[in-house]
Amino acid sequence: MPDDIPSLEASRASLLRRFAQLQDMRPGSVGAVFRRCGKPNCHCARPQDPGHGPHFQLTYKKEGKTVTESLPNRDAWHKAEQEVAEFRNFEQLSQALMEVNRKICRLRPTQAAVEPWSAEEKKRLLQSIRRLRRK
Ligand SMILES: [Zn+2]
Repeated sequence: MPDDIPSLEASRASLLRRFAQLQDMRPGSVGAVFRRCGKPNCHCARPQDPGHGPHFQLTYKKEGKTVTESLPNRDAWHKAEQEVAEFRNFEQLSQALMEVNRKICRLRPTQAAVEPWSAEEKKRLLQSIRRLRRK
């Protein structure tokens, strides 16, 4: 892919069209777990026993905590699987969009700002940067 602004902008436009086509999505992963109920007389307390299950579930992080949602049937499983896969598509598209934008930002010339910084401009910008840092 040639790295000039018009072709990069064309790639960006096509990525944005793909964003618009994204379906239902959610972060997380689907999987199966076996559980131990904790009752000492249950078969699951034996060392070779796989435990109760399999239980099919979706797990994801919310505010730093792992959340689990049960997937009680095949439809729920397939739905969650597709939503999670679509989220991975979204992440890949986001990466690609950031990459193409990074290139555009580096190549885009400044708008007619041919004058170098004046002493007054430097002073004012420095003051506003310091104000932002204090917040
Ligand atoms: Zn048990």
